[in-house]
This record gives sequence, structure tokens and C-alpha cells, in this order.
Amino acid sequence: MKVLVINAGSSSLKYQLIDMDDESVKAKGLCERIGIPGSKLTHKVPGIEDFVVEKDMPTHQTAIELVLEALLDAEHGVVKSVDEIDAVGHRVLHGGSVYTESIKVNDDVKRVIRECFDLGPLHNPANLMGIEACEAAMPGKSNVAVFDTAFGMSLEPYAYRYAIPEEYYDKYKLRRYGFHGTSHMFVSGETIRYANLPEGHQRVIVCHLGNGSSISASVGGKAVDTSMGLTPLEGLVMGTRSGDIDPAVVQFICDHEGLSADDVLTILNKKSGVFALSGNLSSDFRDLSEAANNGNEKAQLALDAFAHKVEKTIGGYLAVMNGADAIAFTGGIGENDCAMRAKILAHFGYAGVKIDAEKNKVRGERCEISTPDSAIRVFVLPTNEELAIARETVRLR
Ligand code: AMP
Repeated sequence: MKVLVINAGSSSLKYQLIDMDDESVKAKGLCERIGIPGSKLTHKVPGIEDFVVEKDMPTHQTAIELVLEALLDAEHGVVKSVDEIDAVGHRVLHGGSVYTESIKVNDDVKRVIRECFDLGPLHNPANLMGIEACEAAMPGKSNVAVFDTAFGMSLEPYAYRYAIPEEYYDKYKLRRYGFHGTSHMFVSGETIRYANLPEGHQRVIVCHLGNGSSISASVGGKAVDTSMGLTPLEGLVMGTRSGDIDPAVVQFICDHEGLSADDVLTILNKKSGVFALSGNLSSDFRDLSEAANNGNEKAQLALDAFAHKVEKTIGGYLAVMNGADAIAFTGGIGENDCAMRAKILAHFGYAGVKIDAEKNKVRGERCEISTPDSAIRVFVLPTNEELAIARETVRLR
């Protein structure tokens, strides 16, 4: 059985065709500059040269048509007919408070995705365009929507409500939703399986540390807390996002710099985080580590502030769950930055965490990095959101 996974952005569309018999990727690719002059599709099939198509893609519909042509191409294709694609899975950012799980797309689902445009203004319209383009190009095929917010929907009200007047929750559903949900769902589930954690001992903290970073606490694969909020701005210090700040900072900057709240939000999303703390040096942890090793104090401050917030969050989640059975690291930093993992985990000696320094050298591969006598088992577990979406698609198609 083959599943096509689609991640549609406003001017881009990523895809993977996954053979679910062995969960292997048959082909993947990217359409860039949709609706902008200079559109390009790059199609990758393992073992052969990339196939690049430079053709106008005025809409997502034309992009999907080109993707299907590439998948069927005599030389670079991997299927003989569209009938070989059993179903399509779509990454959708926001399902609001309506969808607590992935769901097969129908008119009601599309209506809810549309109603959530306000909550996910950059992503939801594009996600819906991706779905409608697939419906038009492959009539009759099942489309499944996998929401990035669904994982956070199992939080209790005391974890998801903001302590602000109730009317804002009632009128606008302003609450903490959490993001990276598909990744947290995948990594927490895979950690339970990989570690063979028995029922009743499945308290997992997932640290998804990448350009965007978030941490979740879950029990038996169900989230009990997560660090992102109404938007992905809340929580950890990130590549260019500030994470938690006192909201009064927004008003202060508006008043003193003559900026609007929108302007400041853009600054907090795009020009803050480790990028800002490092004196605009870089948001990439490889650059920051190198600079810090060469004595750059601002780069060191950025790394220290990042680690400090991660430590506080893990510590908070240990308290929330009265301990943890496993901690898993994922995302570009979590999977690859051994020094950052060691720095963070050094703060959990009090909780009996013991790391095997040799095993912690692992990069981008599944590995248990704690010692056999560690009170909490610690893992590096690469995320795979596309596979998670494909699995949900098979389950619900
Ligand atoms: P992601 O958003 O999950 O793709 O993560 C991207 C981030 O991972 C980059 O900005 C880097 O900061 C970080 N990263 C990737 N590879 C490495 C590495 N080998 N060492 C340290 N950081 C890395």
C-alpha cells in the first residue's frame, strides 16, 4: 500500500510517497515558488539522479499535477498509475479545539480548517489548498488531515487555559494548543516501543529541539503538557523566536519605538531567540558552538540561555508527572548536538539521570544514551513526521 504525504505551504509543497508495506520512501520532493515566477519542482528517488522540472506553477493544483507527472514519469517515476496511490495524508497546522485526532477529510473538516484560518493564518489556507488540489487531481481518493495541534488536545484545562478573562476563551478559544504535535506523537510513541516501556511506566518527556523548539510531557502517548501555546511563539528560546517573555515587553517596545503590536510580534518571531542573544550572529547551533568555542561571549550566552530554558521546562515536567520513565531528544539540535544534550542532562543528576558519554556521541540515529543504572532512560530518537502522517492515513483512510 502506498501513501502520498503532502505538506503544503503558502508558496511551497513538500511530498513523500511512502510504501507502507515496509515504510520505505519511494520518492520525495519539493515544489518551490508556487504562484511566483521561477517555479521549480525537485523530485528525488533513492539511487538515481534528482529530477528537476522548471515549469510555471500558478496554483497548488498545478503543483500537484506536476508531482503526479513526476511520480508517473517513465524515467524518474515510481508508480505506473495513480491507482497505485491508495490515499493521501496532509499535514494541517490547526484543527482548533474541534479535532483531537487526525480525521478523514469531508466538507465539515474543510469548513473547520477554514474556520481556523485566524488561528493559523500562514499555514491553514495553504494546507486547505493542498487538500483541494489533491481532491481535484485524484477524485475519489481518501484524503486524511493530520493536525499539528491534535496532540495537545489531551491537556487538562488547568494546563491549557490562560489565566485571562473567560470571555476570551469563550469567544475566541484562546488557549494553549501546542505545536510540533505530529512529531511529539511520533517520538513519544516510538520511545515507548523502542524502550519497551510497560504500561503504567510510560511517562515520556520529548525534547523537540530544532530551529523551532518545544517540549512535551506525555503519559502512555497522551500529552499532559506541552511548551508551545496559542502560537509556536510560546515556550523555549528558539532559533529566531523569543519564547516566553513578559507581555509588558511588547507594550514597552511599542511605546518607545513607535511600533505596532504586529511589528513587535514579527520581531519576536523572526529576529529574536538565540539569533538575537548572539548579537545577530546566527540562529544555527553549529555556528554558535563554533563561535562560543572561539571565545565569543554572546554566542555562549545564547547557548546558555537556550539550555537554561530547556532545563527549566524538563524540570517542570518532571514535577508535573511526578517523575519520568524516559526523556527523548529529537529535531536538528536534539538529534545532532551532543554537547548541548550533555549540557542539559548534567542538570538532572539529582533525578538519577546518568549519561554514557560514549553513547551520547550519536548523531541522527536511534540510541539509548543513558547508562543501565540511570533512574530515567534517555534516548536520541529522530523524528519522522511524514511517516507519522502516513501511518495515520492508513489507519483512517
Ligand atoms: P530542524 O529545525 O529540526 O531542522 O533543526 C535545524 C537546526 O538544527 C539547525 O538550525 C542547527 O541549529 C541544528 N543542527 C543541525 N545539525 C546540527 C549539528 N550537527 N550540530 C549542532 N546543531 C545542528
